[in-house]
Amino acid sequence: MISVTNLTVAYDELVAVAEVSLQVPPGYVLAVSGPSGAGKSSLLWAIAGAAPVKSGEVQVDGLRITGRPAAAAHGVVLIPQGNGLARVLTARENLSLPLLADRKLSADEVEREEALESVDRIIERALTAVGLEESGDHLVEELSGGEQQRVAVARGLAQRGKVILADESTSELDSSNRERVLELLRAEADRGAAVIIATHDPSVAAGADGHATMDEGRLSWERRL
Ligand code: ADP
Ligand code: ADP
Repeated sequence: MISVTNLTVAYDELVAVAEVSLQVPPGYVLAVSGPSGAGKSSLLWAIAGAAPVKSGEVQVDGLRITGRPAAAAHGVVLIPQGNGLARVLTARENLSLPLLADRKLSADEVEREEALESVDRIIERALTAVGLEESGDHLVEELSGGEQQRVAVARGLAQRGKVILADESTSELDSSNRERVLELLRAEADRGAAVIIATHDPSVAAGADGHATMDEGRLSWERRL
């Protein structure tokens, strides 16, 4: 369960997120829509521990994680807008970085290679899920915008977060890949994740369990359970 209470994010004088509260239980997909500049990305970054929180708090399963850059250690996974991939690494390498960092593999485990094999399996499964099983060895910069977006989704899925924050993760996809990614995010909820999707796309919002809109940093509910 992710719980955000009276969260305010400001860049100097500019208030990007104003006193936002929401809860997303496991199994639930919340869509947050609203115009560009409304504060959607800032909200997700703040939950992920990487935006300047002025007040309020973020809890995962009752544990306060507000402003901690190590939100990932508490199962918060951000699929950032613009994908956040390392362009000069391969798709597979991009997936492996957070997995290896997360697991804090000891030299001994690396030596034994078992742990690495399990990382490889997770990566292959995630690339296959987004239909990029043939592209693991391609440099990100060689991939199309839509393919890069799917790599970013695969990287997010591979981390098996408790909380998945997807920031415009379908914006560059054709309709069949968009459906595929939405099904994958739904599957993440079905295995017990809390999912928040920031989107401009009304059809994405329509498929979510709850729908909130943001405008000038304020959040209001269109539909909730
Ligand atoms: P009201 O409708 O009473 O004016 P809000 O719309 O702000 O108040 O909602 C009250 C509280 O309920 C919010 O602080 C929010 O945390 C919570 N809430 C409402 N709906 C949901 C939902 N679908 N998912 C998560 N939290 C919700
Ligand atoms: P959205 O995702 O809804 O487009 P953002 O969270 O990106 O909204 O932006 C909300 C507001 O915060 C905008 O006015 C934007 O210009 C500002 N903003 C976003 N990121 C930064 C930043 N790093 N520094 C200063 N202002 C920012």
